[in-house]
Amino acid sequence: MWGDKRYRSFNYEMKSTFDSKVIKLSLDGGFTCPNRDGTLGNRGCIFCGEEGSGEFAASRCLDISEQINSQKQLLSKKWDSGKYIAYFQNFTNTYSTYEDLKEKYYSAISQDGVVGLAIATRPDCLSEEVLDLLDEINRKTFLWIELGLQTIHEKTAGLIRRGYALDCYDEAIKQLKKRNIKAVTHIIFGLPNESKEDILSSVKYVAATGTWGVKFHLLYVQKGTDLYEYYKRTPFHILSKDEYIYLIADSIEYLPQDMVIHRLTGDGKRALLVEPLWSLDKLKVLSEIDMELKKRNSYQGIKYQKS
Ligand code: SF4
Repeated sequence: MWGDKRYRSFNYEMKSTFDSKVIKLSLDGGFTCPNRDGTLGNRGCIFCGEEGSGEFAASRCLDISEQINSQKQLLSKKWDSGKYIAYFQNFTNTYSTYEDLKEKYYSAISQDGVVGLAIATRPDCLSEEVLDLLDEINRKTFLWIELGLQTIHEKTAGLIRRGYALDCYDEAIKQLKKRNIKAVTHIIFGLPNESKEDILSSVKYVAATGTWGVKFHLLYVQKGTDLYEYYKRTPFHILSKDEYIYLIADSIEYLPQDMVIHRLTGDGKRALLVEPLWSLDKLKVLSEIDMELKKRNSYQGIKYQKS
């Protein structure tokens, strides 16, 4: 149904929309985060490293057009479709003045070959003013907003210091939907003390919101994060590769067929990663997910129930 996959992958969706492969250029807009600058907290989410959530982005010393050019050069050695999504990835990319955001977003979408814009943020950083700006941009380009929900369980959200309640996410989704702006929700698998049922209930909850896309992450315990210190003091269960693969396959089954799966596993930094080390072989993990779905003769949406 979706090319060679049993789920609606990001690549499939981009090819269907833009008729060719689309490359994401990870940018650093020079923003910070209310969870790190003292507004909500000083140390950020427990798993967040010094470089924020976008550790593969271009250098913040460069302006947006320079970052786009340097990313294009870097990535064109590997792929060269000439179509790009500018992706504001690092920290909270709606957390600045209206003028600053407007200048950076417009600068990004005006560069050659940029066919769309992706903005990663927190649901509590979408003021009316910001939503109006996003509404305006959404009428000019292919826009989506990424929200780091991670879990629907308040106990875990407290432990990871997420800094907002579930109803704040619900409201953000409502406001984005009202303006026809696409949202992508991030969920982390393997958070401390979450059971398989806890993880799947987060997935089912997000499936019911009608978010345009999802990103599934595996929790990384990385050096230099508070999570690593927590893990040393209070070791918790680390998902095995098989557990992760079964959980991902289960999750795919619970998503509606029109939901775009942007990611099924991530890229941990080899030098910093403490657990789970099996995750370093990303291609193997992705291929075993395909194999598991094939073994089950299953596909995205097979267990989805519209509420
Ligand atoms: S919201 Fe994102 S950038 Fe801010 S502390 Fe959490 S993970 Fe880091």
